[in-house]
Formats: sequence, C-alpha cells, structure tokens
Amino acid sequence: QNRNPQPHIAFLSSPGMGHIIPMVELVKRFVDQHGFSATLLTFSNFSSPTQSDFLASLPPCISSVSIPLISLDDLPPNSNIETRICVLTHRSVPHVRSVLQSLHKSNKLVAFVPDFFCPDTIPIAKELSIPHFLFVTTNLAFLAFMLHLPHLDETTTCQYHDLPEPLHLPGCVPLWGKDFIDPARDRTSEVYKWILRLAKGYGNAEGFLLNSFENMEPETAKAFRDGKHGPQPAYAVGPFVRSDMGEADEFGCLPWLDKQPDSSVLFISFGSGGTLRIEQIREIAFGLEESGQRFLWVVRTPSDTEKNGTFFGLGKQDSPISYLPEGFIERTKEVGMVVPSWAPQVKILNHKATGGFLLHGGWNSTLESVSHGVPMISWPLYAEQHMNTVLLSEGIGIALRPKESHEDGIVERGEVARVIRDLMEGVNGKRMRSKVKELQEAASSALAVGGASYQALEEVANKWKKNALVSE
Ligand code: UDP
Repeated sequence: QNRNPQPHIAFLSSPGMGHIIPMVELVKRFVDQHGFSATLLTFSNFSSPTQSDFLASLPPCISSVSIPLISLDDLPPNSNIETRICVLTHRSVPHVRSVLQSLHKSNKLVAFVPDFFCPDTIPIAKELSIPHFLFVTTNLAFLAFMLHLPHLDETTTCQYHDLPEPLHLPGCVPLWGKDFIDPARDRTSEVYKWILRLAKGYGNAEGFLLNSFENMEPETAKAFRDGKHGPQPAYAVGPFVRSDMGEADEFGCLPWLDKQPDSSVLFISFGSGGTLRIEQIREIAFGLEESGQRFLWVVRTPSDTEKNGTFFGLGKQDSPISYLPEGFIERTKEVGMVVPSWAPQVKILNHKATGGFLLHGGWNSTLESVSHGVPMISWPLYAEQHMNTVLLSEGIGIALRPKESHEDGIVERGEVARVIRDLMEGVNGKRMRSKVKELQEAASSALAVGGASYQALEEVANKWKKNALVSE
C-alpha cells in the first residue's frame, strides 16, 4: 500500500559536486514541476564539507540517504579517479540494493535514476521491477560515444590514437582517437577496462536523461530520435546550471569587474581540479600580455611543482601567484586581475564586463557560459574535455581551440595571444558571440513551460505516473 500520495523516485549520484549539482537540479524539477517525491542517494566516499553543506540545504521534500563508507584501500595509490569511482559504485551494489528494497517497501518507487557512473545498479531496479533511466550529466555526443565503445573495442585492436580515420557517429562531429575520453587513451590500462565495463552497462538502461538541450546538439538529438544510436530513448532535459549566487567573493573580483568596460574581460579558469604545468602557466602569462586584452585569471599551483621540488606548501611560495613570470602582476595591473585557486564563477559569467571565457571544456562550466551568453576558448585537460572541445569548436561554433605546438602539448605564447585576440575582437569571436547569445535564449526557452527540455521531462514524468497508476 502506497502511504505517500506523491509518486516516489530514487536518484543515485556518483561523487563530485560536478555530478551532484546537476542531479539535484533534475530532482527539483521532478518534484516542483511534476509533483513527485524524491530520495537522493549519495556516497560517503570522497565527500567534502561543501557536499555536506549542499546536501543539508536541500528542500525538505527531497530526502537524502548516504551510502556508508566503502573501503578502496586495496587500490594502488596512483589509480586514477575514474577507476576509483567505478570500483566504488561496483562495490556499493549491495548497499544500494538494501536502500532501494526498503524504500520500495515503505513507499513504492515508480522509478530509479542512477547517474552515468552507476549503471552497475541497474540490475537491482530490474530485480525489483522498477523503471530506470540513467542520468548522463553531460551531452548527447558523449552518450553516443559510450554506446558505441563496446563495438569499437570488439572491431579494432590498435590504440585509438592510431586509428587511421576519425570516428563518424550519426549526427556527431567526426572524432579523432586523440580526442576520445581520457580513460580510452591507453587500451591496456586498468581505467580503460572499467570504462568499457561502464559503457557496456549503458546497454542495460531503459533510457537516458541528459544535461543538454535540443538546440545545442540538434543533429545528434535527431539521430537518437531516429534510432541511429540504438533503441533506448535519450531525453535532453537541461541545461541544469548552478543557480546559487550566494558564494563569497574573497578577492574582490566583482568590484574589479564593475570598473571594466562592458564585454571587455576574458575570464580564465580550468574548473574545480584543472592544473597546468609551470611552463604552460608562463606561456599563458606572456600570451596574455602580448594580447593586450583585459583578463581575470584564476591561477592554480602548477601540476609539476612536486617534481620540480620548488613547492613546499608553506610561506610565500604557497601562493600559486608566485609561479607567474617575474614582474607580470606589476606590468598588467591596469588591465588584469589574478586570483589564487577559486573564484565565484557564475557571478563572474553573469557580469556585464565579462566578454569571453577561457576554460578546460568541463561541461558544467560550458553550460554556465552558454547560459550567460559568453563565447569560449576551450582548452581541454582530461576526462571528456577533448570531446566537449571538439563539439564546441568544430560542431556548435561557440569556442576556439588553441593549437598545441609541441610534442609535449604546450601551447606557446604566440598562439595564446592569437586565440585570445581572435575571441575578444576578431571575426571568429564575433561569430561565436552571436551564436552563443542565440543559444542563451534557446536554453532559457527550452526550460520554460512548454519548451523542448520541459516537454521531454514531462513525457518521462507522465510515463512513470501512468505506470504507477496501472500497478496500484
Ligand atoms: N568553479 C567555480 N570557481 C572556480 C572554478 C570552478 O565556481 O574557480 C565551479 C564552476 O562554476 C562549475 C564547477 O566548478 O560549476 C566546475 O565544473 P566543470 O564540470 O566545469 O568542471 P570540473 O571541475 O568537473 O572539471
């Protein structure tokens, strides 16, 4: 007997604020717009104070359950983050099963929505006869790639970067092996085995919900509708963008922006975890100077400091700013601002002085930029950022991609200056600014009542409500 009159959905988010935030936005939509009640399952592993505060502030209509800590101590200390998350979600299956069983018993579940790192939990929903969709916190092109990966693995033997042709997937921009997701870089690696397993697990989902929207990827969306990526339906229901504007502005970025002309400042940030080598930071600094453009730069401690033995984490050296070329801050003080580590990104993108964004191709940052109409330079570092960059630059045409000039992947100062000038005052930048403004409008229409993303979610919601009535 269902004691709660509202149909109830369980959601499962993998670790990381970049996964939890869009998942919570999805949950809120099911609750606020379609009258569901919801339980959100999250992991205790990799939890941070930011995550705890965020979950504690959820509205009362969303219950949250934390999966107990799962030991990963047996993994080699250098195993990468994707491996760790895959092992974690795999080992969590018995815990997720017991939570779902007890939720289902007390308040019948009409659906289960795990995110794209958790397809291992789909068989539980099948055992309990609960409808289930996978939530992909990124785009349709990524999903198309993952659905195709098992076939590619079976039909090729070389490393993907040695494939003689780019991969042509229906409705997607051709993708060279060098731009595949990071875990597919080396097919003999442990992480590749886990990602392949993940990709195979996608085949078990009844369907997919994605943090993208029709106008962002119209041809890929059509290919999915036409069944060219298989029979499973894929609903683009985003863009879900962080709306919290209450973050601190510790270093005074906003008052500084207030003093700059409209659309004149390039914002530079490489996501929550992106770090560069010292040499690359220096090339960016010299390139920025050469470009003569205004900038607001979030500088991180370089990734190779330990190897260089110059960073001991104490005193003045502690500041990432100390890795900038000598005299850089002084020489650029009229046009630039440098902040260490973290800045209130959404507020900065929302400021009228911000005219461009140099980012790492992270999907949340991309959607934040699109939602504020800011054109980009996409400089991929890891995860699926190379694929996103191909989509943004060659597909949609809202980002420039800098050319790496060396074997070791460094982008030299001349190229940095060229690409920045082109974005901020060149013809390409102008074209991209106008396209991104178009998408900004399209994004807000998509989410409004009756918009494409709203309707897509409504279709799924109605299906689940109907199922619930039939099975009562
Ligand atoms: N972010 C921020 N300030 C920073 C760097 C990042 O607020 O200085 C936020 C950004 O707004 C976004 C998230 O961190 O919401 C980064 O997510 P994304 O998917 O772009 O990249 P990831 O960090 O997962 O690589």
